[in-house]
Amino acid sequence: MERSTEVILAPDAPAQVAEPWMFCKSSLFRKLRQHLTNTRVRPTMAAPSSSGLEVLLNTLQNAGDTESMLNILNVLDELLSAGTDRRINYMISKGGSEALLTALVSSARCYTPNYTILLPLLHLLAKVGHRDRQIGLKAQKEDAALVVLSLLRQNTKNAQRAAACLWVLRVFCSSVTTAALLGRNRGLDVVFKLICPHTTKHLRTVKAAVDAFAAMLCSKANCRTAIAKGYIGDLLKLYEDWHNNDANLENIPIRRAIMHCLHHAANSSVGREALVAEGGMHILFQTTQACLTMKGLESLVDPAVQLMRKCYPKVPIPLTSDKSAYIFPLPGRPVDCWDADLESYDGGLEEDSDEDTENEELDNRDYEDDLETDVNKLQPRPEPDRPLEQLSQYVRFCPELHHEFQLNKRVFQDLDSSSEVDESADEDSSLEGNFSQKIPRGRRSKASKGESLLPSSPDSPISLELNPGSEEDNHLQTRDFHKHYLNCSRNIQEGHCSMVDRLLEKYGSVIPNHDPRLYNATAANTKSIVGYSILAFPDFWGHLPPQGKEPMAKRPPNAQRKKVLEDIQRLLCPEKIINKVVFDMEDPSPQCSYETYPSSLRFFSKFESGNLQKAIHVRSHEYDLILNADVNCSAHYQWFYFEVSGMVAGVPYRFNIINCEKGNSQYNYGMQPVLYSVREALEGKPHWVRTGSEICYYRNHFCPRRGQSSSFYTLTFTVTFRHDDDVCYLAYHYPYTYTTLQTHLKMLEKSVDPSKVFFRQQNLCDTLAGNSCSLVTITACPSSKAWKHLHQLRNRPCVVLTARVHPGESNSSWVMKGTLEFLCSSDPVAESLREAYIFKIIPMLNPDGVINGNNRCSLNGEDLNRQWLKPDLNFSPTIYHTKGFLYYLNSIGRTPLVFCDYHGHSRKKNVFLYGCSMKETLWQSGSPINTASLKEDPGYRTIAKTLDRIAPAFSFNNCNYLVEKSRASTARVVVWREIGILRSYTMESTYNGCNQGIYKGLQIGTHEMEEMGMKFSQSLLTLRKNSLLYNSRLIHHASALLDLNNQVVDHKSNNCYEDDEPPCTEEIEYSSFSDPFGANDLDMEVNGNIHSAEEEDEGDADICENVRLQTDRKSHLLPHILPQDALETLTIKDGQCNGINVGNSYYC
Ligand SMILES: [Zn+2]
Repeated sequence: MERSTEVILAPDAPAQVAEPWMFCKSSLFRKLRQHLTNTRVRPTMAAPSSSGLEVLLNTLQNAGDTESMLNILNVLDELLSAGTDRRINYMISKGGSEALLTALVSSARCYTPNYTILLPLLHLLAKVGHRDRQIGLKAQKEDAALVVLSLLRQNTKNAQRAAACLWVLRVFCSSVTTAALLGRNRGLDVVFKLICPHTTKHLRTVKAAVDAFAAMLCSKANCRTAIAKGYIGDLLKLYEDWHNNDANLENIPIRRAIMHCLHHAANSSVGREALVAEGGMHILFQTTQACLTMKGLESLVDPAVQLMRKCYPKVPIPLTSDKSAYIFPLPGRPVDCWDADLESYDGGLEEDSDEDTENEELDNRDYEDDLETDVNKLQPRPEPDRPLEQLSQYVRFCPELHHEFQLNKRVFQDLDSSSEVDESADEDSSLEGNFSQKIPRGRRSKASKGESLLPSSPDSPISLELNPGSEEDNHLQTRDFHKHYLNCSRNIQEGHCSMVDRLLEKYGSVIPNHDPRLYNATAANTKSIVGYSILAFPDFWGHLPPQGKEPMAKRPPNAQRKKVLEDIQRLLCPEKIINKVVFDMEDPSPQCSYETYPSSLRFFSKFESGNLQKAIHVRSHEYDLILNADVNCSAHYQWFYFEVSGMVAGVPYRFNIINCEKGNSQYNYGMQPVLYSVREALEGKPHWVRTGSEICYYRNHFCPRRGQSSSFYTLTFTVTFRHDDDVCYLAYHYPYTYTTLQTHLKMLEKSVDPSKVFFRQQNLCDTLAGNSCSLVTITACPSSKAWKHLHQLRNRPCVVLTARVHPGESNSSWVMKGTLEFLCSSDPVAESLREAYIFKIIPMLNPDGVINGNNRCSLNGEDLNRQWLKPDLNFSPTIYHTKGFLYYLNSIGRTPLVFCDYHGHSRKKNVFLYGCSMKETLWQSGSPINTASLKEDPGYRTIAKTLDRIAPAFSFNNCNYLVEKSRASTARVVVWREIGILRSYTMESTYNGCNQGIYKGLQIGTHEMEEMGMKFSQSLLTLRKNSLLYNSRLIHHASALLDLNNQVVDHKSNNCYEDDEPPCTEEIEYSSFSDPFGANDLDMEVNGNIHSAEEEDEGDADICENVRLQTDRKSHLLPHILPQDALETLTIKDGQCNGINVGNSYYC
């Protein structure tokens, strides 16, 4: 025993240096050793193997005399104060908390409690306990919680002791059950009595009481008690009182602490109701307005705003139903049984529970749990999901393999004319299992034929005639032009089209690969549910990428706060809110008439890909907009596209899309919506441009009609239009409609030289609504009919590319446009690509979704990219047949070399690939399987490495190759595993922009997206490097591409659920409120209490003094170490301190 004591106290002994707490002044140890030896205190329970710290802790619990205990406490405090939290954590791991608790309980239970010991014990316990997550439970176990509460009761008139007890109670309340225990023992009353109105005395103790009270409110039961006793209203009054009297801004910490209390109360619905009922919103709003005007009060504003958001009563979204305004009857399914899963997830998600939960790192763990670890599911599954004989129907989609290229010129002409476009879908064009001819159509059947195609509402156009010569009529052109055009074409009476002809003649839109007349003609074949009769001008007229860069928007400081405060004013001053519906997709009745309400903006979205359901005029220049849910759904809001007119130039209009769903958005990171002005287009600037200022995305007070269990987010942006009475279009991202695609394919087909380029567009299948899903084949025609050339053609590997399975991801269509245009071009690399591959491209896997303005789903209300495991022939025909076609290629020994599905990614910047790797997945998941024995071709990384070099928007570091269980039914994973395509990818494109490369800091435009599509095609050449070596011309043109020696720095696969973005500067959410006080703050306050007995007479100023102590955790329990006589000074005589005068509290 002697030996072990010797070891602890000999700091120079090298063997002991490993203990983190041991780095301490040797003089300290010497003195303690001396003292312990002198007073013959022996560490009683230390086994020979105990560490030094354990011996010290044991001694603390068993030393009977004041002096020894004080010395040990002092040593511990010195040790802990001098280092980092590592020492405290080490002490906690060695039972430090228990030792302090035991010592505390035994000291407090003495007949006359010895505060000379108790006070330092409490101080140390507060510091240690604050860092011990289990302190609450430990306190209960040692019976310390009630002991400290009792000490507090005995010392309500002694500010110093009361503060020490309050801090300890506060740390005990880190356990909800301990907090509840204190509550049951009337702890709330004792603590609340110490919270007084504005005063200049005992501020430290008042603040300790507020903090302890806040901590106790973590228990729901305590919260209810506090509400029942009227403490919430009292706290509000106290807050106001401190606010009103804190002229010199000296009491900000107390005001923050009261706010913190209120936040805790607002975690429960009863608490929120009480706060509102007690006028909390008004008090908080008014005090916050005052804070905004004064420097130094910044730290109070955000907690107040968050608290008001939290308490703002939930309001159901102003719709009659959550369901989409568009219903599409599905064969064999009753109309109203869809979306059942959504209806069922009502249930107090938001309610608090009396449980200790630690959710840190949950996301990451969830993600790793999601990785596939079953090797069987990571290896090829060669069995098709359908009988082989069914695959023969796909033979027609490989016309290039069966075509007899005999007489070059003539045959190619035949080819050209036989190419299937729309109408040619007679004979064998539509594949089996197609319901489009049999299903009754929802509203579509009503509107599609025979009805007047002009809207009947009073806002419909006044005149069809245009006088191109008159200035006046330009006005009408912009406002009404688009509404007339389709009408004319549908009537197919040429005379009625004269307006358009004249417009085109006068303004002549010249957009490459676009023809307004062709667009118009094509649109007539596009089948929408409601039978759109109007074209959106930008789709019709076309878009050119604007000249010049479009940097990401700078977010003004506190932009969100400003918007939220405006939102809160709606609740406080409802009389100032106009609240007038100015557009309703479902109800074109007079209530939405502009004639009775001419000062309002006009909205419209009944056109392809449009999806505004309702617009509400809120304040003079502010509108709430509600998006339509996906067809047959009551969810999936993100994409938007609508027309707005009737504006006054130069006026900032605020738009709020109030039913967004996602938890965060790139709109918080510099992204802007896009705007298209008809006036500008007619003036020769037909551009979608990024626009909008004061853009924020945050959780709002609206909830779905089905209940409060979930809530919505607001995207708000402000647009200042350049022209009076313009017609403008606003969208989430550059629109790209189904009709645009069909028009584009026709233009491309016309553009290629049929003697060189084999271009064939076919109808893979009809969609549910009867639209054609196009499959395009692009390859090089053989240079002669010679066997050698035909053989080369038939042995070219296939590349299968798909896009736009998610309708809201219009960026994927622009990338696809770039791919298609490049592959049809006369660029030498494109020629080489056509010679190297046969491209099979399905540019729009979800035409119905795109047409009807969906964001995510198809008409069956399902995400088509979750159907690949077992696609349904009737409900997901495009997926069923795409997969069937891939099986077919497999079955004839022509498994594609590459498969890539183009997507858009709403949370990330740049463009990147997701692929599939068994080994990387197993590594990343921490699977114990020995991957060395598993064979895997590393070639899946080649394309990304090439793209990293040649595509400026592409980021190799964003790529990953992990197979997630949750993605088991996506195209990428199923095609990889079932079709056996090693290079099976999802290519994700940002909606926003890039944070690397030459586009760093810029928003992405259609030019950059098309370029990406081109670069992706080019990258495919690297896979054929060896087989193309004979082609010297290619080598010359593509040497940069083929240079694979240029190494790319490898990376670790990233978690694809992770946002790349740092946390927002302003909280998007308001449901959680983090404790604003860190451990160091508490240390500071505790340290300030040590000498407070002497300061008592001076009254105020102690809190301010604390600020200067900032990082000094050292408390000087014993100011110096310590001759015997110094201990004397610590003894505080009872009654020497002034108590807090609780009798004067106005709320007694
Ligand atoms: Zn997608």
